Amino acid sequence: MAEQQTAAAGSDDKLVIKNIGLLLSGDLDRPVLDADSVVAVGGKITAVGRFAELDIGDAKTVIDAHGTVLAPGLIDSHVHPVAGDWTPRQNQLGWIDSTMHGGVTTMISAGEVHTPGRPRDIVGLKAMAVYAQRAFDAFRPNGVKIHAGAPVLEPGMTEADFKELAASGVRLLGEVGLGGVKDGVTAKQMVAWARKYGIQSTIHTGGPSIPGSGLIGADVVLEADTDVVGHLNGGHTALPDKEIRCICEGCRRGLELVHNGNERAALYTLRTAKELGQLERVILGTDGPAGSGVQPLGIVRMISMLSSLGDVPAEVAFCFATGNTARMRNLDCGLIEPGRAADFVFMDKAQHSAGKGFLDSIQLGDLPGIGMVVIDGIVRSGRSRNTPPAEKIPAVVK
Ligand SMILES: [Zn+2]
Repeated sequence: MAEQQTAAAGSDDKLVIKNIGLLLSGDLDRPVLDADSVVAVGGKITAVGRFAELDIGDAKTVIDAHGTVLAPGLIDSHVHPVAGDWTPRQNQLGWIDSTMHGGVTTMISAGEVHTPGRPRDIVGLKAMAVYAQRAFDAFRPNGVKIHAGAPVLEPGMTEADFKELAASGVRLLGEVGLGGVKDGVTAKQMVAWARKYGIQSTIHTGGPSIPGSGLIGADVVLEADTDVVGHLNGGHTALPDKEIRCICEGCRRGLELVHNGNERAALYTLRTAKELGQLERVILGTDGPAGSGVQPLGIVRMISMLSSLGDVPAEVAFCFATGNTARMRNLDCGLIEPGRAADFVFMDKAQHSAGKGFLDSIQLGDLPGIGMVVIDGIVRSGRSRNTPPAEKIPAVVK
């Protein structure tokens, strides 16, 4: 069972990372930074630059990256947590800790819908959302940040319910369409109420995920106007290409692609976003745990798949799971820049990859080897137990 660690670095604990071989920023406009060192104080990045030019005195912890690749910790935009580090969906313990070994440091709930006996009455669903928000805020398996408490819309909810949820600390809606509200008119009204009180929304796009859920097509997606078009490549069943194109062209909302979806439809969506010159709308999730299990490497698999088959440079594909998501979701992580959370993943070319270097190995479709994960300035794991072994790994030298 994963260890509980809620503490961030002390308020002035200093972390210095040196000898970074390649620094991926998470920023689509400038995905590679000309720097070899990062300094963080109290769990926040304070400086990025060349080692000789930075103030590295009084460091509590020094990591020698040994020439490896540093990127912002990855963000999974679409998970379905239930309680602690347990999921009843495939009855597994430790799935969040295992996902951290896949480079994920932040997860966003698309609804705690797998909760056995989840309440569907309005009082009950509100209570469950508040409980989930509180519980996951307080319990972070190995430091992973889980933004949860995402109620699913049911008929009869009023503006007052959204006001009350927001006042109670709820910031997300679960996927529209997983509850009783499946029509565009009702969804549009409730999503607008949620937005008015600062609650972000997403929608279940495509065919039913499991027996009992329903189809949500382009007309409902566009009418509901959620902030994120959840799993536009289906979860699992994708819409026809013409409806996917209609959604891409018909709004400016986030285009979420998930591991549990249709891979061809994900590539079609990526191509369409590229044609539109709107790659900043593409964000990644797993939609796990789900019928296809938990996917500890789901996000890095999506990055490699989209880069290798979708003809996107690897450094750009990493932005889909970092800076793009952080900006769209208003998170303080996801970018290597001062003021952001000190959440990092260290990677290198997987041993025996045919790639000429790290980026080339991803573009050839191989997974990265993860050598270390840092969350809030604290080292959470060394060499990943899940990825192929990295050629080089960083070391804590102080
Ligand atoms: Zn869904």
